[in-house]
Amino acid sequence: MTNVPEIFGINVFNDTVMKEYLPADVYKSLRRTMARGATLDSQIADAVAEGMKEWALTKGATHFTHWFQPMTGTTAEKHDSFIKPVNDSQIIMAFSGKNLISGEADASSFPSGGLRATFEARGYSAWDPTSYAFVKDHTLCIPTAFCSYRGESLDKKTPLLRSQEAIDREARRLLKLFGMDDVKRVNAEVGAEQEYFLVDAAMWSRRPDLVYCGRTLFGARPPKGQEMHDHYYGQIKPRVLAFMKELDEELWKLGILASTEHNEVAPAQHELAPIFGTVNIATDHNQLTMEMMKKIAARHGLVCLLHEKPFATVNGSGKHNNWSISTDTGINLLKPGQTPSQNALFLLILTAIIKAVDENQDLLRISVADAGNDHRLGGNEAPPAVLSIFLGSELESILEDIMAGEKPEDRPKTKLNIGASVLPVLRCDSTDRNRTSPFAFTGNKFEFRMPGSSCSIACPNMIMNTIVAEALSQFSDALEQSTDFTADLNKLICETLLAHRRIIFNGDNYSAAWREEVKKRGLSSFAHTVEAIPHYTDEKNVTMFEKHKVLSRAEVASRQEVLFENYAKCLRVEALTMIDLVRKDIIPAVLRYQNFLLDQRAAKKDFSTKVEDSLLKKICALCDKLYDGLEILEAHTEEAKGITDAFELARFSRAALFEDMAALREPIDALESLVDRKLWPFPTYAELLYSVK
Ligand code: ADP
Ligand code: MG
Repeated sequence: MTNVPEIFGINVFNDTVMKEYLPADVYKSLRRTMARGATLDSQIADAVAEGMKEWALTKGATHFTHWFQPMTGTTAEKHDSFIKPVNDSQIIMAFSGKNLISGEADASSFPSGGLRATFEARGYSAWDPTSYAFVKDHTLCIPTAFCSYRGESLDKKTPLLRSQEAIDREARRLLKLFGMDDVKRVNAEVGAEQEYFLVDAAMWSRRPDLVYCGRTLFGARPPKGQEMHDHYYGQIKPRVLAFMKELDEELWKLGILASTEHNEVAPAQHELAPIFGTVNIATDHNQLTMEMMKKIAARHGLVCLLHEKPFATVNGSGKHNNWSISTDTGINLLKPGQTPSQNALFLLILTAIIKAVDENQDLLRISVADAGNDHRLGGNEAPPAVLSIFLGSELESILEDIMAGEKPEDRPKTKLNIGASVLPVLRCDSTDRNRTSPFAFTGNKFEFRMPGSSCSIACPNMIMNTIVAEALSQFSDALEQSTDFTADLNKLICETLLAHRRIIFNGDNYSAAWREEVKKRGLSSFAHTVEAIPHYTDEKNVTMFEKHKVLSRAEVASRQEVLFENYAKCLRVEALTMIDLVRKDIIPAVLRYQNFLLDQRAAKKDFSTKVEDSLLKKICALCDKLYDGLEILEAHTEEAKGITDAFELARFSRAALFEDMAALREPIDALESLVDRKLWPFPTYAELLYSVK
């Protein structure tokens, strides 16, 4: 039996290990640096590197790497060995402070969105001491930020760390007004629920669309989908259970708090949720979780699909981002407190979040926008593409009271006492749930449900931190000038709620009535990625990112460019895959069946050919449709080659390739349900979804 406490964190250079492997003064200095987020001085760095290497060698490491998160959304690593020759026949294992603190990589092939010209193609990585180093694949991995020659961020970690600074700074500024001077740090904390599919590896390898695109480009609806609701929370099949057990153990060894696991709604779909942690570390851990899911699946003859919509007709996969902010003194600022002062503060923070979400619907939408998630958002299974906030009836009725104009004077005069009359001790009713909401208050945190399953949570959290920091900053600006704190606080809350109440919606987000209501309320509605991304560089957004030093103007533009590029590349790969499979597999298979029917018909002479005639008629008509659709897709794929502007290309890809592929899919799926099973060249949905026992 696994001794969990014993294996937990054994592959991590964590606090316990640091104490053991570092001289006492070095340890102290490193802890100080970690707490302040400052850079380590070079003498200390040499000692830390030495300790880290000695520990890593005991874990079987032969190499080290700066582990970073480029704008591809995944992680990157280049391994260097510890070996250092001492003469022509001997080596020692060496690792210097310089190697620990920074690295240089010829990283010219990572997306830079125009930030880096080829003549200065080098990228630089810098140690993030706030996230522990760890050993995986015989390699000491050092979490790092990644930037250009001129110091511009080329990764997802740097802006996230900067946004942590912003929320810390602005939250503490506000807390001071509530007399909370003892707070030295405010952190955003996140728990990311990860959904995924598991399919049999042998089946997967026979579906090049899954191999190249991560999703099926065609596939007829199986006789049974998710309608029986028998998979959701169902007993976990032995092969999946064995995978989950090994996954848990590997994650625990990496210090990841893997905790909840269950079957999800669609057949072959599952979920894993860790216990939440500081957003920067939660982001690193989610990346490692996705990596481990894939690796461990392979050991069980399985493939883990992280795409947002691997199969049409059943649910797609998301990654619910549970976000809260808390102080180093242990107060979760999103927890409705027991005491009046806590309630007042809670109410103010809640109001700030409502304002932030309403004013930045575009940015939150952009933070989850990509080609994969477009297939999921807005379906009747996933949050809609329109932002709204669910608060629950209890909280909403309190806010309604405030907006209805309860006079601040009616309340007790003490500075911090306003909460009592406004906000009775709140029961956080966990049954008060609305699964259709994209952004739901769930007792002591907000659950942002729009991120897709393959998405790096760095961007959504960078945006959350920044927009809330901005709202808090505006509140502090107003309240720092106040001469009558209680009255001004009440007024601020009331006026802000009135200005932003349109974003609150407790009803069914899937309903047609809501789609109408969205228009009336004037909420932003971006149906797909290409509609949303142009707003990244809107002046209001650039100004806010610059004000909080999260992204420079050039960095925002580069991110926008990368999003456009990624979108177009993704659709191009899908189009080329579809063309290849239709030409070389589907058409030949269908023609073979057609020929068989023709031969049958000819051979029958005096007998009825009703079946052959009827099938041939249907199949010939579908084949024509298939071929026409193929030629259109091919022509548009060719046309796309001539478009150089990233935005234009993304727009064209959506307008032409996306629509062409959807149209082409129809005759393919219809043919699949007519053609002889033995001749159909690919595993069907039924086989993919039900073969794992
Ligand atoms: P649900 O009922 O939605 O499954 P859980 O309480 O199980 O809610 O939490 C889901 C995720 O939210 C988990 O990853 C959990 O650790 C995380 N979570 C819980 N409390 C907080 C919090 N205060 N801040 C951020 N994440 C949290
Ligand atoms: Mg869930």
